[in-house]
Amino acid sequence: MGGHSIKIELDVFGRRKKMIQIENITKIFPNGEQQDYALNQVNFEILEGEFVGIVGKSGSGKSTLLNILSGIDAPSAGSVIINGTDISRLSSRKLAKWRNREIGIVFQSFHLLPTLTLVENVMLPMEFSKFRKKKRQRALKLLEDVGLLRKADFFPDSVSGGEKQRTAIARALANNPPLILADEPTGNLDSETAKEIFTLFEQLVTQGKTMVMVTHDQDLSNKVDRTLLVKDGQVREARKLGIL
Ligand code: ADP
Ligand code: MG
Repeated sequence: MGGHSIKIELDVFGRRKKMIQIENITKIFPNGEQQDYALNQVNFEILEGEFVGIVGKSGSGKSTLLNILSGIDAPSAGSVIINGTDISRLSSRKLAKWRNREIGIVFQSFHLLPTLTLVENVMLPMEFSKFRKKKRQRALKLLEDVGLLRKADFFPDSVSGGEKQRTAIARALANNPPLILADEPTGNLDSETAKEIFTLFEQLVTQGKTMVMVTHDQDLSNKVDRTLLVKDGQVREARKLGIL
């Protein structure tokens, strides 16, 4: 599938820009006497405007990988270059600012603040960004884009799971990041709602965003541009292996 290539910039050689460059990433977790290699010398690239699925068994290291891409977690070794920035070189303060600007994150369990309304949840990441002066207006527009304008003043508890996830997606887009990372974003949703959320992601890719989505849903992983399989500490192209 190559249908997602609107608004993609090319470099001076006519090549698509690299959004993610992972070089020799290793992640070790201490486990009593021994050490567990969650990821062992992993290398891959993701180009701007790609929609990439990450698959693999439970405990294979998918969330670990996503957390390393967002800088939430640091690798034990190796480098992570996102949109030209080597994030392993950033101080924690710079990293937090960078993440707020460059990455939108969507979680399985939505992570909305229950005491804030939907629009207030979407406004939150704009507090310290260039959008802060227009944050309410922009948050309302983002909610409108995901079909939730009329529920802007509702609290998370009073909307459905799909609506919570739409709100979380609007929040992920608050600072207009080029890269969206989603960790099992449809894991708590029924299959019909999951499809709607996936369609929303496809629209974002059409608008030029790069999308990386961990998923267990084979229907969805069959529809993305490319699928990476995490297994035994390695990351490989699933289609080339004939797995999907
Ligand atoms: P997945 O998302 O694919 O289910 P994870 O990335 O959550 O897998 O976990 C991969 C492996 O790393 C598992 O064996 C898990 O137990 C281990 N792991 C993850 N986070 C930690 C942690 N903070 N401390 C120790 N081990 C961890
Ligand atoms: Mg996980």
